[in-house]
Amino acid sequence: MELSQKLSILAESAKYDVSCSSSGSNRANTPGGIGNAATAGICHSWSDDGRCISLLKILMTNDCIYDCTYCVNRRTNDIPRATFLPRELAELTIAFYLRNYIEGLFLSAAIRETPDRTMEDMVEVMRLLREEYRFNGYIHVKAIPGADPLLIAKAGQLADRMSVNIELPSERSLHLLAPQKKRESILLPMGQIRQGIVQRREERKRFKKAPAFVPAGQSTQLMIGATPESDRQILRLSQGLYRKFQMKRVYYSAYMAVNTSSLLPVPGGPPPTLREHRLYQADWLLRFYHFDAEELLQEEMPQLDLLLDPKCMWALRHPEIFPIEVNRADYQTLLRIPGIGPTSARRIASARRFGPLNFDGLKRTGAVLKRARYFITCQGKYYGGRDFDPRRIHQLLTAEHTYEQQGYQGVQMTLTDLVSEPKPLPYALVKTVNDLPHVVSRPPDVPEKTAQLWHQSHKTGNPGTVENSVMTNLRALAQRKEAAHESLPV
Ligand code: SF4
Repeated sequence: MELSQKLSILAESAKYDVSCSSSGSNRANTPGGIGNAATAGICHSWSDDGRCISLLKILMTNDCIYDCTYCVNRRTNDIPRATFLPRELAELTIAFYLRNYIEGLFLSAAIRETPDRTMEDMVEVMRLLREEYRFNGYIHVKAIPGADPLLIAKAGQLADRMSVNIELPSERSLHLLAPQKKRESILLPMGQIRQGIVQRREERKRFKKAPAFVPAGQSTQLMIGATPESDRQILRLSQGLYRKFQMKRVYYSAYMAVNTSSLLPVPGGPPPTLREHRLYQADWLLRFYHFDAEELLQEEMPQLDLLLDPKCMWALRHPEIFPIEVNRADYQTLLRIPGIGPTSARRIASARRFGPLNFDGLKRTGAVLKRARYFITCQGKYYGGRDFDPRRIHQLLTAEHTYEQQGYQGVQMTLTDLVSEPKPLPYALVKTVNDLPHVVSRPPDVPEKTAQLWHQSHKTGNPGTVENSVMTNLRALAQRKEAAHESLPV
């Protein structure tokens, strides 16, 4: 088989794996070598379906002996099969690198013959790249569950990042959909990699030249939507993985139907990408905002709200805490406020040393005030409307989400459409909108100048035609919101 044919088959087979992104490594070139794995040296770009395409993302082989129900490469699928020889793949990587097509390699594989045989071939590709071609670029390699620990150890010395995919969020689902895989065979290499990283880090404190072991850490991937596990179960699992195996990242992959089976969701539906997005947001809260999975989701409410981000959702369930006075809250409390992240929280804490912060000063900290203003007071004043009413805030925030989603999907109403049928606004909405002129950021098809005019007219209390059109826009938005969202999870 031609090399180009193999490349096309094996790159196509690799596209469902999402667990690759930034390098996280910082290794410079060596004299006489080529490439580097410096953090800035890997550029990240994403394909239309959100998959990382900055690396040569390829399978060593798609000739699998396993028969996982959800997988395009499973043994019983009638698809073209191909396998690279280690030298072929090493040469291809170098050729692409020298042409500036790629900046690193993401190497995975189906299980050919045995896990050991597969892992041996992958280790050999990395050995050729590192030792013969003196390639210092970034390499992310999959650890094959069930492979000999010695091979995993060897791979760890050659790769920057390793990952072992969990794929299914529970042992029961694993048993049903991938019966040849065992939970232990996935967790064992994870434990080994973690131990190797910790051990080598200690050694490098004493001996600077001790070789690195998986310097960019390990990651894993979980499939979302193929099996009935709730977001709560998934987040608890992710939290356990971060804590126990010091994962660098858990990647969530919205299930895409490529096979038919009574064990899988009916094909034809769109992949649950919004759910995937919410899980990434919740995951971010676990890693950088010190949230606990149990705080975000409880047994009686196990799913994330698709209309609202998890931090807003958490805040609205805690009216006893909000609104928070930004001039008194400590750093950890600031982090809990929707619209305030670690950077803006640090800036707020530092700006307060010179005196109390006013609302204008708050804008300069980078806080996202269109969300944060509902949850804070600034010098005792509440800027989120009448008072802290979770139901009203939920409606306003979800209306904004619905509006943005519709705009994104190309069904956004234009300002002209809306102006053509002006109707009087209900008093309550006028009141709300006047209280909260920021509630809708400039719609994509309203020119900036028009939006400025409206804000200006609002400030001077002289609403004109421009304001009327935007208000009509807001009315339509409120109606859509009511239709889209009947009950609140608060
Ligand atoms: S082992 Fe991997 S490649 Fe093989 S069928 Fe299962 S998921 Fe697919």
